[in-house]
Amino acid sequence: MKQSTLSTDFISSPLLTVPSQAKTTERTYLDTRVTKTHRDNKRTRSQRARARLHTKEHLSRLAVGLGEVELADKLERCHSRLAVLTCGRHIARIIPNFTCEFRLCPDCGRRRSRKLQNKYLPMMRGFMLHHKVTPVHLVLTQTHRKETRKQSAKRIKDSFTRLQRRGFWKQYFKGGTWSLEFTKDKNGLHHTHLHIVGFRRKFFDIELLRSEWLAVTGDSHVLNLKPIQDIAAGLREVVKYVSKPLDIRRFGAADLKEFIGLKNMRMFGTFGEFRDFCKSFDQSDNDGDEVSELESLARDLTEGCACPKCAAPLFDLRLSSDELLRFYEGIESSPPGKVGTS
Ligand SMILES: [Zn+2]
Ligand SMILES: [Zn+2]
Repeated sequence: MKQSTLSTDFISSPLLTVPSQAKTTERTYLDTRVTKTHRDNKRTRSQRARARLHTKEHLSRLAVGLGEVELADKLERCHSRLAVLTCGRHIARIIPNFTCEFRLCPDCGRRRSRKLQNKYLPMMRGFMLHHKVTPVHLVLTQTHRKETRKQSAKRIKDSFTRLQRRGFWKQYFKGGTWSLEFTKDKNGLHHTHLHIVGFRRKFFDIELLRSEWLAVTGDSHVLNLKPIQDIAAGLREVVKYVSKPLDIRRFGAADLKEFIGLKNMRMFGTFGEFRDFCKSFDQSDNDGDEVSELESLARDLTEGCACPKCAAPLFDLRLSSDELLRFYEGIESSPPGKVGTS
């Protein structure tokens, strides 16, 4: 049984469940995803927890239907009992009894994306300092075809590999990270996007990048580029796609089956000089990373320690996932200062 630590209170990690309806008439398949994180952030913690619970129940039912009894059982046990270290108002740490590690599990996905953030944020900061490059969030899309998720992913990754070989790309990008995002439209066509945190050497004309992307894909020029102001937020935005697909609540049995088959597909990676930088980067050299600091802070806390947020003494609670949900709701409905520990 694997034990793991999740500090939920100090670092907020927004997770999306429902894709928004694209409002624009042109280029609808590059919908509003890049900007809608904003709205999703407004969901309360209990709403996000409830959505995760529903997603798991949904997946578990689908798994039973497919005869994947072991998977269903794992999903049901995952994060079902939790050791919560709290002051009654803030949560310093949550330790789940069991983690299923299934790729689509929203609880495990959250942990996975946090791990990625802890690992890559210091390296990104180090790389930016060292090379004087600026980060951008680039979304690459491709036209939809009748194909499997796997084929769709391979197609866009192959296009990206070709893009990286081109002179234009080498001239302007010094590397970065990529992650895959899957969605499916109502006609059952896969929309696969690549989200790239790219380290840009200098400014360039977006139209040039468009024509380069068209040259390697053969039929797509649709992309979106925006500067990243805060690298921590930028990284958080792209790793959320690694934690789970946005359309998971609309999954049918066939989708789940397809994902079980994708077991070994990489959803996140590094490229270019950033990849080499990561290999040689010594994590112990880094001391300016807020995420790691908070994580290690939470790890050192025990019952009786002062809450890092309000200094009230921390105590241990054993909760089921439903009880945790009600605990969150209690915190959200009680005015600041009044502690809801019942
Ligand atoms: Zn899980
Ligand atoms: Zn507190």
